[in-house]
Amino acid sequence: MRLDRLLGTLGKGTRSEAQRMIRRGEVSVDGQVCRDPGQSVDPETAGIALRGEALDTRLQRHVMLHKPAGLLTAARDRRLPTVMDLLPPVFLSLGCMPVGRLDRDTTGLLLLTTDGEMNHRLLSPARHVDKTYRATVDGPLGSGEQEAFAAGIAYGDFRALPASLEIVVSGAQSATALVTVHEGQYHQIKRMFEAVGRQVTALERLSFGPLRLDPALSPGAWRELTPAEYLALRSAVQMEQTEPIRQTEET
Ligand code: URA
Repeated sequence: MRLDRLLGTLGKGTRSEAQRMIRRGEVSVDGQVCRDPGQSVDPETAGIALRGEALDTRLQRHVMLHKPAGLLTAARDRRLPTVMDLLPPVFLSLGCMPVGRLDRDTTGLLLLTTDGEMNHRLLSPARHVDKTYRATVDGPLGSGEQEAFAAGIAYGDFRALPASLEIVVSGAQSATALVTVHEGQYHQIKRMFEAVGRQVTALERLSFGPLRLDPALSPGAWRELTPAEYLALRSAVQMEQTEPIRQTEET
């Protein structure tokens, strides 16, 4: 990859800004100042520094975010804050994108990745990647609701595949349950509960395929996936295993 392109991809400026920085001697490759913007470098192995500061040149990044309420799941929005605002800008430059969407008021596990093929497959209706949510609703839940979820919901023009409903606690005014679905439709959990006469008052995603929300992550916090987590995700969508992802010291 050309050195100027790599700097641009890492969000260090436009291509022409990168070219100027390189020509000014601000960039070194493996300890040597390099003034040739067209210099070919391998981001996997080259040690690149900008004004003496070593750059993290990994182009493949995979993130587990504990989404807080109030943020849009989108790459960018003209009016509202998005989940990308929680990550350093390099993730946006690298094209690290959310896998699917959580509603603005939904919290919990959100995966973001630069692996476009894996992103696509994880969302494919044909692959039935399981997701588990903890839902709090505005009334009691019992065996009637469990049976309705297990049979598959049909409500107006909304159809949901059979899903499991595990009741954690149920009282007259509210109940909390774990719901596992094998698909990912727009407002799916809210619509499933609506179909049985309940409004969701809080919704948190706890798992996505083989990934579990890391309890060490508080709302708004994130970390990169471990190599084992990334490989488990790829294997969940029948993708061949790749070289384990490189990690920096802080991950
Ligand atoms: N189902 C919903 O209703 N909302 C979400 O954010 C996710 C699943």
